[in-house]
Amino acid sequence: MYERMKQDLEQRLHELETQGLYKIERVLQGAQGPEISVRLSNGKTISALNFCANNYLGLANRPELIAAATKAMQEWGYGLSSVRFICGTQEQHRLLEQELSAFLGTEDTILFSSCFDANGGVFEALLDADSAILTDALNHASIIDGVRLCKARRLIYNHMDMADLEQKLREAADAKYRMIVTDGVFSMDGDIADLKSICDLADQYDALVLVDDSHATGFIGPHGRGTAEHWNIQDRVDLITTTFGKALGGASGGCVSGRRELIQWLRQKARPYLFSNTLAPAIVGATREALRIAAEAQDLRNQLARNTMRFRRAMEAAGFTIRQGHHPIVPIMLGDEKLAVQMAKALLDEGIYVIAFSYPVVPRGLARIRVQLSAVHTDEMVDRCVAAFIKVGKALGALKT
Ligand SMILES: *Cc1c(COP(=O)(O)O)cnc(C)c1O
Repeated sequence: MYERMKQDLEQRLHELETQGLYKIERVLQGAQGPEISVRLSNGKTISALNFCANNYLGLANRPELIAAATKAMQEWGYGLSSVRFICGTQEQHRLLEQELSAFLGTEDTILFSSCFDANGGVFEALLDADSAILTDALNHASIIDGVRLCKARRLIYNHMDMADLEQKLREAADAKYRMIVTDGVFSMDGDIADLKSICDLADQYDALVLVDDSHATGFIGPHGRGTAEHWNIQDRVDLITTTFGKALGGASGGCVSGRRELIQWLRQKARPYLFSNTLAPAIVGATREALRIAAEAQDLRNQLARNTMRFRRAMEAAGFTIRQGHHPIVPIMLGDEKLAVQMAKALLDEGIYVIAFSYPVVPRGLARIRVQLSAVHTDEMVDRCVAAFIKVGKALGALKT
């Protein structure tokens, strides 16, 4: 049997390559940061400015987090060899859950190994076939998969289209429970969801609201508490899912946070929580430290906002098509898949590491390079990035004239 499958896969892998859709993993030769060394496919190692990490607050290699992880490991050990409810809950797991609730302004929090797992467990545990989920068309893959695992009726509304959401809420009028699900910030576009309108519709049509704040926790909102804080509606969101793998240190881990009974039920029923290992002590200790830093990181959030605007303004002035907004995710829209890949490659030759995104991560014909700013980029780094884009963009004809 395998021979047939092997030939088929070889053929399909080749197709990906010819369509410019084949993803190459670059190998870093050290820790994550604004400046990294990258080994190229020809074996050469180069130094590059990194503009593609989710390292928004620059915590990924912060000495305080490394120290907290080390200390936690010394105190609580390397691993638990258990799920939470058997013998895998330590004092610090409880403390992290309480501290996340305090930071996010929620009643309770449950930890998962990742936000992917959080989204994989939350819907199936809470909703049955008699309920309905209203989900934005551009929601993250983990939400799509989590919704698939759940028997509730699925209604996909057009991206950020409130009229369509309202229409779908009407269609779901007979459901026992309705839940509106949205990314707080959409990872490919940097769009911030219109949570206020979503909560208004939820009130009007009697629905719950779940927000995945993976690209917001720690740096969106006046105190970095996320999209709900950005809209000043923290008490109107029922559930937040988020990751520790982005702004909060960037290692791994995630959670669901929100109304007390919902979280209590998830602790009994969420399958990735019940059947997957407990979060490692080092991660728990470092995430607690990341939260402490994030709670007081007004300077980092201000710097991130300054870097973002500096980059956005300069790129627009240079004639690039970028998606409007304020988020440190800045998509440089190129359209053509091959051009995007070619351009990212040429930028790396200039010492700027960015990634081209194409189908199926984004819709066909909407290929782009996604630039992500960090609080630890300097003005000079941002300017070097813009200069490289202009040079490469001119050479490849990607600039509006
Ligand atoms: C990154 C991301 C996830 C996955 O988080 P992990 O903790 O890495 O599994 C889930 N949802 C959204 C919106 C994300 O951007």
